[in-house]
Amino acid sequence: MQKTAIVTGAARGIGKAIAKRLVEDGFFVAAVYNSSEKLAKELESELYPNVKAYKCDVSDSESVNAVVRAVLKDRKTVDVLVNNAGIAQQKLFTDITDEDWSRMIGVDLSGAFYFTRAVLPSMINEKSGIIINITSMWGETGGSCEVHYSAAKAGLIGMTKALAKETGLSGICVNAVSPGVIETDMMSNFSEADKEALREEIPLSRLGSVEDVANTVAFLCSEKASYITGQVISVNGGIVI
Ligand code: NAP
Repeated sequence: MQKTAIVTGAARGIGKAIAKRLVEDGFFVAAVYNSSEKLAKELESELYPNVKAYKCDVSDSESVNAVVRAVLKDRKTVDVLVNNAGIAQQKLFTDITDEDWSRMIGVDLSGAFYFTRAVLPSMINEKSGIIINITSMWGETGGSCEVHYSAAKAGLIGMTKALAKETGLSGICVNAVSPGVIETDMMSNFSEADKEALREEIPLSRLGSVEDVANTVAFLCSEKASYITGQVISVNGGIVI
């Protein structure tokens, strides 16, 4: 029976690479998008019949519950959940507004909570499941001018570790993947000079690719990772040791 993975933020960037890689590995992927409808439909056509696109704002719990109900209706079980959808914002701490804070926590932390809460009963019932939260090196170390982003991503790490303890007996593995600097739209406001400066700080001397992250997620979704839970796996070229 073909396994089912839900990947949030799957229409572009890291999420798209994860969706493509999981399809290569034999999964059916429920590709969750919010604003990138055209890209999501293109992915659906490209990987037909192994991908179906579902629209959802991850910060809205009712929208999340509706999507998980639809996926379970279509597929009966969810074997893997990858909480990848996220936003970033650079601001001085004192300039962060209530709205900035709520939106950041809503998308980057509550979104993962809503999706995980919605899929867990089915995973517990099956006594198996894999949940992967895409955090960030800033969640591990703290990033200047990204305090709300760092707080949300650190929250994801706490959620990962605590939930791994709670769900281990149900056969569910929960891990976080923590990318460093990965070339996606999220870096579109970085100049070439900024990127060069970052490259110089990275021991492996290059920015990460979306495939670097997708390969790690694919490993965690494989049988080979069946004794790994509650961990934060960093994919950062050595920038954070
Ligand atoms: P990206 O290219 O900017 O893509 C962001 C994704 O998140 C898009 O697919 C977007 O979907 C989705 N998203 C945003 N708000 C959403 C919402 N309210 N509901 C549903 N989906 C939403 O970013 P990326 O670089 O691929 O980042 C993916 C993940 O990796 C994020 O969690 C990010 O924090 C993390 N990360 C990235 C880097 C990096 O250097 N790029 C480093 C560390 C961690 P739509 O386009 O459909 O709206």
